[in-house]
Amino acid sequence: MQTAHGPAQEAGQEGPREGSPLATAHAQLASAVEILGYDDGLHTMLRTPRREIHVAVPLRLDTGDIRLFHGFRVQHNVSRGPGKGGLRYHPAVDIEEVRALAMWMTWKCGVVDLPYGGAKGGVAIDPRDYSKSELERVTRRYTSEIMPMIGPDTDIMAPDMGTDEQTMAWVMDTYSVNRGYTIPAVVTGKPLAVGGSLGRGTATSAGLVHVTASALAEAGADLQDVTVAIQGFGKVGSHAAAIFAARGARVLAVSDQYGGIKSDDGLDVPRLTDYVQATGSVVGFDGGDPITNAQLLTLSVDVLVPAAIEGVLDESTADGVRARWVVEGANGPTTAAGDVLLKKNGVTVVPDVLANAGGVVVSYFEWVQANQTYWWTEQEIADKLEQRMVASYREVAALARREDISLRDAALVIGVKRVADAHLIRGLYP
Ligand code: NAD
Repeated sequence: MQTAHGPAQEAGQEGPREGSPLATAHAQLASAVEILGYDDGLHTMLRTPRREIHVAVPLRLDTGDIRLFHGFRVQHNVSRGPGKGGLRYHPAVDIEEVRALAMWMTWKCGVVDLPYGGAKGGVAIDPRDYSKSELERVTRRYTSEIMPMIGPDTDIMAPDMGTDEQTMAWVMDTYSVNRGYTIPAVVTGKPLAVGGSLGRGTATSAGLVHVTASALAEAGADLQDVTVAIQGFGKVGSHAAAIFAARGARVLAVSDQYGGIKSDDGLDVPRLTDYVQATGSVVGFDGGDPITNAQLLTLSVDVLVPAAIEGVLDESTADGVRARWVVEGANGPTTAAGDVLLKKNGVTVVPDVLANAGGVVVSYFEWVQANQTYWWTEQEIADKLEQRMVASYREVAALARREDISLRDAALVIGVKRVADAHLIRGLYP
């Protein structure tokens, strides 16, 4: 039996919540599977995570009190290589969200043709409420709890929302101390001092701008001709703003979870970045006027970059988008219903699995460098990233044109097919 999201759920398993990230991920997969003409058995294989772990993470607070958090790690698919995916610290983390994020990692690694499967981890915690030493203890305990699942050949972590290179250094140290020697390749996105890669910190954003430039070029436009609005001013959004501005685009508006800021003349991004480093938010910056997140999504700009959380472009917001291009910096910012509305209104969506893949591309370079203990120059990394992103965009765009399908369907078809081909050629054991 087929449902809206694919074949019937297995006995005893409920389907994902309507409008949730997992429902969106399932709907996207179902669309790709339909185009590829796969049967229910293969569809179920592709949809179902290979391994999941749910751990309790007790924390001794600085006050001496104990608090308990829930942590997860999901390996969605490992047919093409080790699991690869970020670690998220956010209060809304749950198993369904982590499953969706792990699935997107699988297709993303397929789209940009990296020898990885897809994985993701998370702890349901708001990192802003805890001290650095408390976050270190949470990270070390979470790492210890999931030790059997991770490793440089099995499942490799990287930063995501609410985590950073310091978090990765703690994961690497905890894993290494338990194994008895230093194993840098168990994480990527770590500090340079412990084997990080040049260019990793800005890689997701640099890749996003390369892909945007490629999409604009197809329409005869150039970065210097366009205006941009960016939701989210964290690792992805802030560097994207800086790179867009450096390449000549006018960044009219940005926002974070506290609110947004807009200037019709274009924001002074370096000064704004200094302001955010000092205050922790874009709110109150004197180089623009305040706007809400809802207003930012509907601004008259050429390029809208959602770079914060999932599901912000849905049935209630997508109709108001006036940008010509939506370039997805975040994972899963557009729901299935949002996608339909954007398509109806002629908005070109450059999907997350392509647009934000620059991070995992340079994570792969970092892992290769750690495995061969030989480090490349920043220029070598930048050149290899640009080549990979532009080539991936062209491949996706060519398929979309040839088959008259959306860029999202085309990207998913390429990513899903690479994984399915690996399944089929390996065969089913036993
Ligand atoms: P981050 O924690 O560094 O920054 C998140 C930003 O989003 C912050 O500015 C925060 O204030 C803002 N935000 C949070 N909730 C919001 C809300 N409700 N409304 C508006 N803004 C909100 O995280 P990040 O690493 O920049 O990740 C952002 C997105 O990009 C996530 O979806 C993540 O999965 C995705 N992503 C990250 C990477 C990476 O390399 N870091 C790679 C690929 C995809």
